[in-house]
Amino acid sequence: MDRQTLLAAIKERMPEKRYLHTIGVMETAIRLAEKYQEDPKKAEIAAILHDIAKYADVEWMKKVVIEQQLDPRLLDWDAEILHGPIGAWIAETEFHIDDESILNAIRYHTTGRADMTTFEKIIFVADMIEPNRKFHGVEKLRADANINLDDAFRACITHTLSFLVSSQQAIYPVSIECYNFLMREE
Ligand code: GDP
Ligand code: FE
Ligand code: FE
Ligand code: FE
Repeated sequence: MDRQTLLAAIKERMPEKRYLHTIGVMETAIRLAEKYQEDPKKAEIAAILHDIAKYADVEWMKKVVIEQQLDPRLLDWDAEILHGPIGAWIAETEFHIDDESILNAIRYHTTGRADMTTFEKIIFVADMIEPNRKFHGVEKLRADANINLDDAFRACITHTLSFLVSSQQAIYPVSIECYNFLMREE
């Protein structure tokens, strides 16, 4: 599916600001894919579709979790956690994406997971550092991403979990598994 068709399809499912974020993720992901020798065309598709479920109805998403027998822990969480796994399901069923690397990059773009692939890290990092993102420390993460993807990914995960702890938010178990895996790596 070509870029313009995908962009037109996602545009009507999200506010303008989220659409501009998606364009930023797309451009960043393509650049990182070229730099770290992954397929830029696949990065483009994963990036365009990564937030497709962000504004989907939460009750509908939970119904999909049950019907498709996705991780039942998802039922205790809201759209912020549901939109990754459900986004992957929409990409597969509605957009006929059958490439598991694209689907996993969408599925884990919010929480990460243990033992991420380079391709998954590219989508995760691009989501966090795209040009429209503005938070304290983003410039450092952008600089890291130009030097070493693994270091940048580790810094992104640390940033997100630190933020969640400091604002006293619950942490999804898969995010913890991702963090623990990174801290135990050589
Ligand atoms: P976005 O969809 O482009 O805004 O970005 P993400 O999909 O990466 O993240 C969506 C939201 O989920 C952000 O506000 C994150 O801080 C939040 N988030 C990420 N991981 C967790 C987690 O483990 N627990 C909770 N409660 N929120 C999380
Ligand atoms: Fe997201
Ligand atoms: Fe993210
Ligand atoms: Fe996003």
